[in-house]
Amino acid sequence: MNPLLTAFLLVVSFGLLSWSLARRFLPLIVMQPDVRWESPGSRLKDVVKYGLGQFRFLQRFEWFHGVAHILIFWGALVVTINTIHVIGRGFVPDWHLPGFGHGQLGPAYAFAKDLFTMAVMAGCGLAIYNRAFNRPKRMFNNPEAFIILLWIFSMMLMDWLYTASLFLLVPDHPERVTSFLGVAGQQVLASFGLTGADTATARLHLVGFWGHLLLAFAFLNYLPYCKQFHEITALPSIFLRSRKPDGALARQEFEDEDALFGVGKIEEFSWKRGLDMYSCAECGRCQANCPAHHTGKPLSPMALIMKERDHLKEKTPLMWRASVAKLRHRPEQAQALLAQWDGDSLAGGVIDEEAIWSCTTCGHCVANCPMMIEHVDNIVDLRRYLVQVESRFPRELTQFFKGCENLSNPWGLASNTRGDWLADLWVPTPEDNPGFEYLFYVGCAGSFDDRYKKVSRSLIRLMQQANVNFACLGNDEMCCGETARRAGNEYLAQHLINFNLEMFDSIGVRKIVTACPHCFNTFKNEYPQFGKAFSVIHHTELIRDLARKGALQAKRPFGGGSPVVYHDSCYLGRYNALYEVPRDVARFAPGITLVEAERRKQVGFCCGAGGGRMWMEEKTGKRINTERLEQLLATGAKTIATACPYCMIMLDDAMKEKGLEDELRIMDLSQLLLDCTADGTKSGNPIHHLRNHNATEN
Ligand code: SF4
Ligand code: SF4
Repeated sequence: MNPLLTAFLLVVSFGLLSWSLARRFLPLIVMQPDVRWESPGSRLKDVVKYGLGQFRFLQRFEWFHGVAHILIFWGALVVTINTIHVIGRGFVPDWHLPGFGHGQLGPAYAFAKDLFTMAVMAGCGLAIYNRAFNRPKRMFNNPEAFIILLWIFSMMLMDWLYTASLFLLVPDHPERVTSFLGVAGQQVLASFGLTGADTATARLHLVGFWGHLLLAFAFLNYLPYCKQFHEITALPSIFLRSRKPDGALARQEFEDEDALFGVGKIEEFSWKRGLDMYSCAECGRCQANCPAHHTGKPLSPMALIMKERDHLKEKTPLMWRASVAKLRHRPEQAQALLAQWDGDSLAGGVIDEEAIWSCTTCGHCVANCPMMIEHVDNIVDLRRYLVQVESRFPRELTQFFKGCENLSNPWGLASNTRGDWLADLWVPTPEDNPGFEYLFYVGCAGSFDDRYKKVSRSLIRLMQQANVNFACLGNDEMCCGETARRAGNEYLAQHLINFNLEMFDSIGVRKIVTACPHCFNTFKNEYPQFGKAFSVIHHTELIRDLARKGALQAKRPFGGGSPVVYHDSCYLGRYNALYEVPRDVARFAPGITLVEAERRKQVGFCCGAGGGRMWMEEKTGKRINTERLEQLLATGAKTIATACPYCMIMLDDAMKEKGLEDELRIMDLSQLLLDCTADGTKSGNPIHHLRNHNATEN
């Protein structure tokens, strides 16, 4: 076409793009190191599944929006090859990539390109329609979103014009055989009386060619300055995503000389967090089911990432220079440059403290973000800074931390009363039964909360019925450290974790069963970070297995009010994929009718207690437990089944607040099963039984 002009556009465009990319990526160098190259095979699989496969776009509530994105994404991948061809044709007529010649992939590609051009145009049309007339609450409209969609649509139109006019100019062009869209375009132009000999046709061809090129180059240069930057960063972000278990927070190191106690400045995040900030597509999927956002708290996981990104951009001039100093091995100079920042601080400034403390760590945002952004770790890092560096946290947490620190329970009750509830249950301690198979780790709620003590007792009776070889620690049990960790007190959490690990080691613990998903998650997914892994099961898994083996027999139909709705615990379901096990336990009860809430499983709605929220006052917006109770009541259920102390306590509180005690029952699944399996007689002396059992084994 015009090699000189094409070369000029190419150099200017890629020169400017390189400058913009350097502006975006160079500041990441001064952020914290984070090595993420292990398991490259699994990482590639993630790229295929979540990046190319767009796995997280087809959600139950929103497949229509997901389809629009998938059409645009896949279409753009295929059509980009054509843009490369168009650039090449600026230098050499009819140029194509190797292998895309007329006797090779050319005709097939011409067909695919037309198909995907239509897909992109349809996707853009759908997305514009969705945004204008069918916009989900999670999404916010701004002119940028419409501009981007129209821009992409226009690029497709220009390419169509280019091909259609080409076919008029060269009627025997080989791509005509398969390029159905090009041929259709040619016919449209011909219907206006245009022929290959007309100057107007040649001009239209030039408009198509340069229009496509200019729009494409300009779009490329716009990317680093808009939300569409994720087109460049998404795949690397997904490839480098965290490989730690979903339910585990990152371990904070105390030993390192340069250890940071949380994140108080943007550069104290790892560089990967910076990359994630650039990758946010502002889609709002993270906040669609965020209990804090949904009930009017000042936290939106999307807004959190966007504010951090804006702050990173604002601080870019200083971080850029500090990165250069770091690259030149001048760390003091880098620090001095960063210290010049006199704008807002991050924790408590850019990100409002109430927002930081509003998170229940339910994990919905992380589990549903198509870019695999790690919001929970992000928020906990901010909490760690506020707690460990600034000593700034909600007043109610003072009691909580003191209780855990001095008495190893958040209620601050005497630790030598922890095992009182066991007194009449004939339960062996590890000393009584050194050959125990399971340590039943009761947890703080199961030991101190009157409602959940009943659950602990039910589980013990079920285990006794099924002759499970177990032991309980009684007064020797300590808090597992889970909530202190999520409330940002990593120092206290690690103290408790290390203490427990030493004790478990000394009594030979191999398997742990617990009725608390929070203890379960932390033992299973976080304790291995401290050097020791156990086989950990949740009580619903144990009950399901005992029932399947016939060790628990249903003796009568479920006597509670049916239908029953099961409320998914975030720490059991979202973090540990235990969705069906609790439902299987419920189904084991004869005569039960199980109904499902609209928000369930992966998109289940939190009870509001996680992340230390159970210990904090809920001053803003609607109460989360009330909202969840209403969602569950909408199913018409007469019984709510739970499998978590926090969920039970929160829903029970909401039920009482609504005065529904006479109409509704809230039961743990162990209580529900005991209702059907108990024969009314007390089981035999378990200590006696277990000692015999061990003697036989030996
Ligand atoms: S973890 Fe839950 S409460 Fe916290 S930001 Fe994410 S969705 Fe909201
Ligand atoms: S954080 Fe993830 S889910 Fe939330 S708006 Fe950004 S890309 Fe979407």
